[in-house]
Amino acid sequence: MSGSKLQYPPELSGGDEEETLIACQQWALSHGLCMLDDGKVLSKTSHAPFTLFPTPFPKTAFEEALNVQEAFNELYARVSSNTGWLENVISELAEFDPDFTGRLFKIHRQVKKAAGPQQPLTAGLFRSDYITTDKNKIKQVEFNTVSVSFGPLSSKVSELHNYLISNGIYGIEYPIESVPVSPALKELAKSLAQVHSAYVETSLSDPGSPASILMIVQPNERNIFDQKLLEYELSSTYGIFTHRVTLTDVQEKTCLIEENRLIHQASGDEISVVYYRSGYSPGDYMSDKEWENRLFLECSYAIKCPSVTTQLAGTKKVQQLLTERAVVNKLAPNISKSSVDSLLDTFVAIHPLDEETPEGRHARTLAFDHPEYYVLKPQREGGGNNVYKENIPGFLTSTPKQNWAAYILMELIHPPQIKNRILRNGTPHLGEIVSELGVFGGILWNSHTGECKFNKQDGWLLRTKLQSSDEGGVAAGFGCIDAVYLL
Ligand code: ADP
Ligand code: MG
Repeated sequence: MSGSKLQYPPELSGGDEEETLIACQQWALSHGLCMLDDGKVLSKTSHAPFTLFPTPFPKTAFEEALNVQEAFNELYARVSSNTGWLENVISELAEFDPDFTGRLFKIHRQVKKAAGPQQPLTAGLFRSDYITTDKNKIKQVEFNTVSVSFGPLSSKVSELHNYLISNGIYGIEYPIESVPVSPALKELAKSLAQVHSAYVETSLSDPGSPASILMIVQPNERNIFDQKLLEYELSSTYGIFTHRVTLTDVQEKTCLIEENRLIHQASGDEISVVYYRSGYSPGDYMSDKEWENRLFLECSYAIKCPSVTTQLAGTKKVQQLLTERAVVNKLAPNISKSSVDSLLDTFVAIHPLDEETPEGRHARTLAFDHPEYYVLKPQREGGGNNVYKENIPGFLTSTPKQNWAAYILMELIHPPQIKNRILRNGTPHLGEIVSELGVFGGILWNSHTGECKFNKQDGWLLRTKLQSSDEGGVAAGFGCIDAVYLL
């Protein structure tokens, strides 16, 4: 694909543009491609922001990203199971960030010492995010191990684009299969259903008693339809019900009975899977109560998706350490050499910023001499936390030197330039855009024996933002959901 030479996007074919924009919004509202304007007010719902056209994306890079997902799932499952290695890494980070990483780490340690039976199975719904370079190579931005979102909505946007294609609304012909529908909605639900079944088969306290999934949600979630679509798929295809509870309300709505079985009080259902769509950032823990509730859930016999340990495996410091082949080989000796080659091929340089190692000291110099090539990242999720380019030296100067080791310095990835139109609140915005491909993965493993129960790629998401903004979070208001046009 030669993105820079492509004239894109095309015109909409004939007709009234205003009518087409309305038709797109009607499709979105009819199919749940929506977000709440304000999480408290159900009656104010808008279409989620999306691109009017699917964005050109190199087919080989796309296939590489899908093909490497199972190896990434396995690698992070191994990191999470290797508690000796992980504890070493996290205990140091915990000192720099006692109020968040430190408290998650404390829960990890408390769970290990907790009384009663412990669930050996652990689940992950992961997402590996990439930006393509102008040489059409995929480079990993980050690997997410907790609360990955926008799978269901990405299925919807690719369906919308296919609807527009089949109705001749675009001014160009898209070859058949060049705009594939992301199976993320179906595959993520299938993974969760398989985790649920594994619990029912191995762990249910009474055979035949009712079991359901517990989704831990944020209060006033704006991106609720992304979650509801998953719930409906679980219900209609697998007959599995999902209860929604905030981290604050956990002990009002659930209780532990003998053998640490977690029960949803109102229904009496035994909880098979605790699926976190909250709990990944400090704002999710308003008081000690939410921390107590996290510990309470982690100590239950339900399968956690993810466990606090797996969440910690997703910190950016771990991502930095995994850029070394020897570390990957040591942690995941079962991954084939060709898969390790493929994993490593997706990495850009990521440097530590500590005082002790030569790499760290070298990176401290780079950050001041050549900040234009880098992004500085703390151990946080959810967007809005990074420091870019020329802002790095000033930021570091204002941060106590002994805390610099809590950050990583990552080489910036420069995607090819392309234009598209973004529809937000009914208004189209034309501009240079950059896109980020996220590939979902589902995995279930036994953290005591290392045995993997299933490991699969679960579809993809393309997120796009106008180039003028640095952060890509859709819910945070900077980006939108897109679909791939494979070239
Ligand atoms: P978060 O956990 O907050 O989502 P990310 O590491 O995903 O943090 O960074 C947020 C956004 O910053 C990304 O979606 C991307 O737009 C941009 N970004 C992060 N790392 C890079 C990089 N190495 N090169 C270019 N852009 C980046
Ligand atoms: Mg991100």
